[in-house]
Amino acid sequence: MLNGKNAIVTGSTSGIGLAIANMLAASGANVTLNGLGNLDEIEAIRATMADSHDVEIGYSSANMLNHREVRGMVEDVQKSAGTVDILVNNAGIQHVAPVDEFPAEKWDAIIAINLSAVFHATAAALPGMKARGFGRIVNIASAHALVASPYKAAYIAAKHGVAGLTKTVALEVAEQGITVNAIAPGYVLTPLVEKQIPATAKTRDMSEDDVIRDVMLARQPTKRFVEAEEIGAMVVFLCGKNAASITGTVLPVDGGWVAQ
Ligand code: NAD
Repeated sequence: MLNGKNAIVTGSTSGIGLAIANMLAASGANVTLNGLGNLDEIEAIRATMADSHDVEIGYSSANMLNHREVRGMVEDVQKSAGTVDILVNNAGIQHVAPVDEFPAEKWDAIIAINLSAVFHATAAALPGMKARGFGRIVNIASAHALVASPYKAAYIAAKHGVAGLTKTVALEVAEQGITVNAIAPGYVLTPLVEKQIPATAKTRDMSEDDVIRDVMLARQPTKRFVEAEEIGAMVVFLCGKNAASITGTVLPVDGGWVAQ
């Protein structure tokens, strides 16, 4: 379905990004992985994905904190693969603290990785997409792009920013065969969420089991975590031909969270 398309998935060495990369590769796309982690482990992921799906899998170590590295990653893939047809802006971090105690350096890092990197990668990918009259940009936002929760000021500000950026870029390129959408997942049990459980337990003076039941899954009417593969499947659909008229959306995949 996506045979011959070249994709970049930021933050794809773990969690949701890894599932998205796997599912794009399974659909025939060549994928450039990106993210932090142990280089031997990343190479093992890369080689397994390439072998399993018989596509080209690359890796960029670009740090999404640094706008030159973000833009450099896109330019390098454009040079080596010839095109960037699909850009999935997924890398993200979280920090949980009351706003008046929120460390300034955490604010800056979250805004840089979760929001500014989306702008820089998009800006670098668009000229090539416009020249070819085809592009798919999918931003992994969050239910927190649509609603708020206490103690996540930077994350929620960044994700609301991603929603606005998604709509703006979608309008700018709507006539050029390029769609730009955001997916708004509910809670997915990845390392990002696993780390939040003890932090939220401390901030709210609750047990970790209570955080899962009364804070996280309390929001999700389905009472289960969203599966990373459910996000991957939505990305694959948005990258396909039949999604050509879907643009500028922020699509919840959240077990009913934002319906409330
Ligand atoms: P994760 O921690 O499992 O993965 C995050 C990925 O981002 C990793 O590959 C990591 O190496 C990469 N990353 C972090 N900092 C980076 C940097 N400076 N440069 C390059 N890569 C960097 O997290 P996840 O839960 O899979 O989250 C992925 C995305 O989904 C994030 O944008 C997150 O906000 C969003 N999201 C997650 C959930 C959830 O419940 N897990 C819900 C809604 C939205």
